[in-house]
Amino acid sequence: AKKDGRGVSRFYQQQMDLWIKRRLELENGLRDSLYNDELQVYFQPIVEFKSGEIIGAEALLRWNSNEFGSVSPEEFIPVAEESGLIVQIGDFVMKKAFEQFVRWKKESKGSESLQKIAINISVRQFNRGDFIANIKKLIDSSMIAPENVELEIVESIVIDDVKIAKEKMEELRTLGIKLSIDDFGTGYSSLSYLKQLPFTTLKIDKSFVKDINIDAEDDELIETILNIAKRFNLEVVAEGVETYEQALFLAEKDCEFFQGYYCSKAVNGEAFIDLLNNRETC
Ligand code: C2E
Ligand code: CA
Ligand code: CA
Ligand code: CA
Repeated sequence: AKKDGRGVSRFYQQQMDLWIKRRLELENGLRDSLYNDELQVYFQPIVEFKSGEIIGAEALLRWNSNEFGSVSPEEFIPVAEESGLIVQIGDFVMKKAFEQFVRWKKESKGSESLQKIAINISVRQFNRGDFIANIKKLIDSSMIAPENVELEIVESIVIDDVKIAKEKMEELRTLGIKLSIDDFGTGYSSLSYLKQLPFTTLKIDKSFVKDINIDAEDDELIETILNIAKRFNLEVVAEGVETYEQALFLAEKDCEFFQGYYCSKAVNGEAFIDLLNNRETC
């Protein structure tokens, strides 16, 4: 038994070593990625059910590493967050996304319906003292209207200090910037707590959408979320819509907007123009 125990712990030790090694390699790779031109911002359309029009885009980061190939954001975003690199990387995403949005508006005929560019903000970015000043600077230099900017914040982001978070969010709202609760339903936040915060939009997590018409409990959950959003006066975007059946269910329940492969995956800025110009897209 003693021998077995050692064997097991040796196995775990090896796994840990591998994991730490990968992590360090990724961190070093990410540090270089900004200078090697390996990071790209992609865009997924946000679509209005009623009109079928693309009313917005969510910026999603892509890392095509010379060393590791294409690395999933699910893997490298946490590394960026823990190393602090997310601050620089986050600035890069905003700069690229704002500039791209302004260019679409100026140069693309199909962009009249386009109203917003949504940016994912991580805790580490949000909590910085210069977060708002920094966003102001990026908005000014790209000449985007703040009303066209929506920041996506996961619901767990503000748990640390509600009061400070609330003040920050109110200041952002005063500037005209919109705020959405990302991955709604996956965190631990209570509703009374969320109600205090000046969100404009609620994004239903794709884990609920996945089981539409499969799991009756999830169907009910989505209806409940839609009712909550209505009560709180929030716009709703359903995420991860892949099928006609899911779209139909959500539209019938008066959900206004969706994202998902049913319309399009995230694409680069050029390809997004084609989506905008092709009215049959979604
Ligand atoms: P998220 O904010 O929840 O983004 C939605 C994710 O769902 C994206 O994954 C998107 O590609 C994927 N998705 C969209 N439609 C569908 C669908 O129909 N079916 C399925 N199964 N998936 C769909 P992605 O691009 O891999 O990003 C993963 C996560 O990484 C994001 O989740 C977000 O939390 C984070 N992330 C991505 N870019 C950034 C960024 O610039 N900054 C920060 N802080 N986080 C980012
Ligand atoms: Ca998001
Ligand atoms: Ca999400
Ligand atoms: Ca997510």
